[in-house]
Amino acid sequence: MKKAFIVANWKMNPVTFKEAENLFVSVNKGIKKDKGIEVIICPPFVYLNFLKKNQKGEKGKIRLGAQNCSSQEKGALTGEISPVMLKKIGCEYVILGHFERRKYFSETDEGINKKIKLVLKNGLKPILCINEILQIKKDLKGISKKEIGKILVAYEPAWAIGTGKACDYTQAKKFNLLIKKVLGKKHPTLYGGSINAQNALGYIQKSEFSGLLIGGISLKPKEFIKTVELFYNK
Ligand code: PEP
Repeated sequence: MKKAFIVANWKMNPVTFKEAENLFVSVNKGIKKDKGIEVIICPPFVYLNFLKKNQKGEKGKIRLGAQNCSSQEKGALTGEISPVMLKKIGCEYVILGHFERRKYFSETDEGINKKIKLVLKNGLKPILCINEILQIKKDLKGISKKEIGKILVAYEPAWAIGTGKACDYTQAKKFNLLIKKVLGKKHPTLYGGSINAQNALGYIQKSEFSGLLIGGISLKPKEFIKTVELFYNK
């Protein structure tokens, strides 16, 4: 099996530093460094720096990602976080275009496109979430082939996010092939939407994705670790 990307999207959880620390420490202790996986945890912004320092001697086992960022590097933009800041604190990835941001924060393809460009410019890797195939061309407009190669594209059907109703493998594979038709056969793609330890492996083995974007169970260390263990290169 090829290396699988496992992205944990904590969303706006947990609400205290102590809980965030406990969750991170449990996952960090529970997983091993393995060539079969790249585990990326995307906590709320306020925990990023703290968790980076918390890795102690375990550098490299877990990579850190943000769940969003500004489309500008600096300036009078109250409440925004710059990709420059994220890079400086050791963040490697940024989730962009998540369905919840498109729906609840009215993010547009044009805005997402700007963010992707700035994230790439600052040496971070975007994890672009899409739920419709037409979003790809709009979100990646004006970005070179070489730069597109650095982007993980995650298919997350809106109806499968947080509902417990995961997409069936055949339907997920169809969408995956549509993405690959646009971006090339080898482009790394992820599936996200109601993943658990029971259904996770099928998205790699049957639907041919390169990894998973996990919400709900990324907050449950035992189940998350069990899911990660499925992908160890034995
Ligand atoms: C998500 O929010 O990206 C997600 C996939 O959530 P869940 O795993 O809870 O469906």
